[in-house]
Amino acid sequence: MKAVIKVGTSTLAYRTGRLNIRRVEKLCKTLSDLKNAGNELIVVSSGAIGMGAGKLSLPSRPTDMPTKQAAAAVGQCELMYTYDRLFSEYHHTVAQILLTAQDIEQQGRRENFQSTLMRLLELGALPIINENDSVATEEIAIGDNDSLSAAVAACIGADLLILLSDIDGLYDDDPHKNPAAKMIPVVTQISPEIEALAGSAGSELGTGGMTTKLHAARIATAAGTDMIIANGEDPAVLYDIFEGKAIGTRFVAGGNGNDRKERI
Ligand code: GLU
Repeated sequence: MKAVIKVGTSTLAYRTGRLNIRRVEKLCKTLSDLKNAGNELIVVSSGAIGMGAGKLSLPSRPTDMPTKQAAAAVGQCELMYTYDRLFSEYHHTVAQILLTAQDIEQQGRRENFQSTLMRLLELGALPIINENDSVATEEIAIGDNDSLSAAVAACIGADLLILLSDIDGLYDDDPHKNPAAKMIPVVTQISPEIEALAGSAGSELGTGGMTTKLHAARIATAAGTDMIIANGEDPAVLYDIFEGKAIGTRFVAGGNGNDRKERI
């Protein structure tokens, strides 16, 4: 299976911005194992800004552009250093790709990105992608890694996009406010009713909420890729997903009645 796995800041780091070592170790071990089993994996990892904020001892996630970009420059190093070290333990070679919206929107640049990605997979490397936050100003940024990971999945014709987050899936009501809220296991059509379920709140350190996840689902399913939202609290959930078990919320490719072309 060719899969893109998006890991959110809330999965990688504690609320302090510091790395959740136990979880990240388990994530890298699980991904290494799934790669050993013959799956082609691409990771889209957030965490640059959050980890940079932690490393620079900033009191919270920065909001002004220069500090965000500075934090990303620091945090991206830390992030890749961590992945490199952990994946090396399982003899996997990581490759960093940093993108902005133009790299996906402009045909020539997109083709370039696609061929680099394909070659990396052929060479057996593990591409780890993030937005190039240190240079991406608001006008040129994709802005959130849910959308970025969907664009990447669409670019390379992935079978599956998995968004690991701090929620179990899409609920029929806000589970923080309504304990009776139920998770929706399968979405075949992103209808206005489904859209209405998306609140906009993200966590303190990350960017995405349910709105960006539904946007990602539209991009992925329109491109023929199924998308799953699952809780990344225990990364071993990836085994269940790859075994085809019903985990989280699955958005089914194709039959969702998308008639408009999705933009990132
Ligand atoms: N690219 C951002 C980072 O690495 C994360 C964006 C997001 O959380 O969606 O910090």
